[in-house]
Parts: sequence; C-alpha cells; structure tokens
Amino acid sequence: MATFEELKTLVAKNNPGADLTMLELAYEFAAKAHAGQKRLDGTDYVEHSLATAITLAEMRLDLSTIMAGVLHDVPEDTSVTVTEIQKEFGAEVAGLVRGITKLGKLKYRGLERYAENLRKMFVAMAEDVRVILIKLADRLHNLKTLDSLPPVKQQRIARETLEIYAPIANRLGMGELKGKLEDLAFKYVYPEEYEWTIKTAKTRQEDQLAYVNALMNEIKKLLEDDGIKTVSVHGRAKHYYSLYRKLLRKDMDLSKVYDLVAIRIIVPDVNDCYHAMGLIHSRFKPLSGRIKDYIAQPKPNGYRSLHTTVFGADGRIIEFQIRDVEMHEHAEYGVAAHWRYKEGDKHEMQLPPEQIKWIKELLEWQKEIKDNNQYLTSLKIDVFQNRIFVFTPKGDVIDLPDNATPVDFAYHIHSDIGDHCSGAKVNEKLVTLDSKLISGDLVEIVVDKNRPGPSEDWLEFVRTNQAKEHIKSYVKRKRSKLLNLFSRRDR
Ligand code: MN
Repeated sequence: MATFEELKTLVAKNNPGADLTMLELAYEFAAKAHAGQKRLDGTDYVEHSLATAITLAEMRLDLSTIMAGVLHDVPEDTSVTVTEIQKEFGAEVAGLVRGITKLGKLKYRGLERYAENLRKMFVAMAEDVRVILIKLADRLHNLKTLDSLPPVKQQRIARETLEIYAPIANRLGMGELKGKLEDLAFKYVYPEEYEWTIKTAKTRQEDQLAYVNALMNEIKKLLEDDGIKTVSVHGRAKHYYSLYRKLLRKDMDLSKVYDLVAIRIIVPDVNDCYHAMGLIHSRFKPLSGRIKDYIAQPKPNGYRSLHTTVFGADGRIIEFQIRDVEMHEHAEYGVAAHWRYKEGDKHEMQLPPEQIKWIKELLEWQKEIKDNNQYLTSLKIDVFQNRIFVFTPKGDVIDLPDNATPVDFAYHIHSDIGDHCSGAKVNEKLVTLDSKLISGDLVEIVVDKNRPGPSEDWLEFVRTNQAKEHIKSYVKRKRSKLLNLFSRRDR
C-alpha cells in the first residue's frame, strides 16, 4: 500500500532540499479532491496518485514532476480544475497536470481512436517530455493493479502497453521502466507464452545467477588488483518479455541466448571501461563477433556501454556489460536522467539533441499525415521497430529504420540530395540504390545535379515516411505537368 510517509521519505532522501511542505500540500489537496472515490480493487483513489508519484520519486525526478504525479487525476476525475491547481501550486505543476489531462483516459476503441491517442501523446511529448514520464508511471501502477479489472479492460490496457507505452519508454532510453511495463503486460496478452517462458527459463536463469554470484568477487579482485575502483559489480537477469522475443528469433533455443544473466560492471569513467574489458579478455576468452562498443557507437536511443561475451568455466557462456556511472544512469532512466536531482546544481533541463530531433520529427508527421491509417503504418515503420545507425562521410550518425536504403539516407540528409541522388557508396564501394543498409555503414551519396528528380520505382523499396512523401509529391507534380501539356496539345 502506497502512503504519503513513504513518498515523503523517498523525496527527502533522493532530492534533499526539496520543499516537503509543498509536497504535503499537494497530497492533502489531492486527498481532499478524491475523497470518497474508490478504485475497483477497493483502495482509496489517492493511493493510485501516490503510487504514481513514488515511481517518479524513485527515478529521482524534480519536485514539480512528483507533485504533478500526485495531482495527475484531479481535473479528470473530480470537480477541481487546472486553474485552481495553478493558483495553489504555480504554472509549472499546473502545466504538467494540464498536459496529462489533455491526454485524457486513452481508450483503445478502433483504429481512429488509437491513432488519435498516439497523436496526442506525441504533441504532449513535444511540449514537455515530463508529461510522458508521468503517464508511464501512471500506466505502471495501472498494470500492477490490473487483476481487479474485467478481462476486456485487462486486454486493452495490456495490449496498449506493449504497442505504445513500452516502445515509447524504449525510444526514450528508459530501459528499466520498459522492462517492467513489458513483463507486467506479457502475462495478460500472451498468457500461455508467458507460462512457457517462465517454465523454460527460470531454473536455468537461477542456476546461471548463482554461478555469476560466485564469480563476482573474483571479477572485483581482478579489476581492483589493476587499480580500477569498481562502483558496482552485479548479476542482472534478463526480463521475461524481452527473453521471449529473443527466443522467437533463436528457434526457441535457450542455449542460443547468452545474456540470460549478464554481469554488469559499473566503473568511475570511460577509460576504466576499456581497461576493465581488457582485463576480462585476459582472464576469459571472448567469443568472436560478440564484442560491441556502444560507447564509440551509441544506440539510436542514446544507450552506451561495452558488451562482450566470454567463455566461463564448465562450458558456460557469460555476457559482460561494462559502463561508467553516467552511462548507467542513462541506460536505466534515459531522458529522465536529464531531470534528475544532482547535488550542487539544480537540474539540467536539456534533452540530448538526438531525442529532440526525434520528437520534432514525430510532431511534423502528425501534422502532415491526415489519414489515420497511413499515419499508423508510418509510425509502425519509423518509430516502433528496430532502428539502425549509419555514418556520413564526416562521421555524423544518422538514425534510420531497419532495412533503410541509400535513398532513405539521402532524403534524411536533405530533400535536394534525395531528389538528385544517382548512386551510392557504402563503405567506399558502389552499391545499388535499393541496397539495405546495416548499422555502422559509412554511406556516401553520389549526386547528379542534372537529374530531373526521383524515380517512381524507388517507392518499391524506400522505408522512411520522409522519402516516400517526397517521391510521391514529385511524381504527382510531374503527372499534372504532363497532363497540362497534353491538354494544351489537344486544344
Ligand atoms: Mn492515473
């Protein structure tokens, strides 16, 4: 049961200097507004508000976000308005609550509503990402209390979580929250697969965890003897839903999953990361092709870490994940890390540029594409699937969907480059324009200034919405020009 005392203790610990009196006032205000309201499981409504705020406090977010968490359902479910909240708690808190209220209670009723909800999410996200963080915390608690709802609602909420909320958490780099949301939704959406995954993996995972735990001190000593002050060395069991998804790609063969349990090593700085990996390779033989340097080449969502898979004792295979404190914060909390309380300065309110760019793009599409069906399709391709990252000749990283081609790359750089693209070099070799790019490729576009425009055939293979739209509009313009010519000739 979530209590105000619990929230207060947590905020005092994670966010020293926060105005606890304001927090208490927000709680009393919410408790009064929700007085007499019960949730379906019989608990007082305000407990849900507190649970949402506790998740935000655990992420060490700023006080305004936590207060907005406490107040998030007040305008939606009671007669109290956002204006009154603004009078009591100021514009920042009220702005966040207004954002949440605008999203409304998302209801999954058919395609139209679904697309509408997504549009609302992205508009809110562009205005203030913290609104989405509150929504995700709200969803986490709703999932934890899903048992008391009728089956139809359970299905709707759990599905929506797998289709919308978890991918957004992932895209925002919030690995920990994404894993929790998915695992809670998993058992409702795919009950049989959930049972099967647990039955198949649990014993093996526990066995591996025991082995890893026994190895821990040895690893610590190995690093510390060479002067690395480890911040933490711990075993990390893979979340069940992501394990299930991986098994689908590996013929359901558990022995092909090497990160069932990973050893996570947190060290003070970047140099220590590479130093530690060297020491691990001198002690355990690495599997070839399994060393991944996400520090030099971060994932599109900003994830940074070194990964390596090695042969342990008794034919065991173990994955190591090595990162510094800052990388770890980002891997666990993603964009939320940017609003976290930091000793000394207040908090940085800037998002990393790649996230800003992504959110802006989403906002553009939701304005441009009026047809909901088409909007959903493009979102599914552009956002909710795996992305690759490739390089320009200058070394800039470009983030594209899976199976993107040089034409997608060209349009991503600039519409003029896309329109006049006549060839491409990948890793310095000439390739056809429909070649599939893979992460790490160095891509160079050959531009022909005399080329009249894109070819209609490109529509067969381009992946991004951006490229499609440009090609289609060129084709349309060309057709209407031709029609004009013909009709003139007829006359
Ligand atoms: Mn709520």
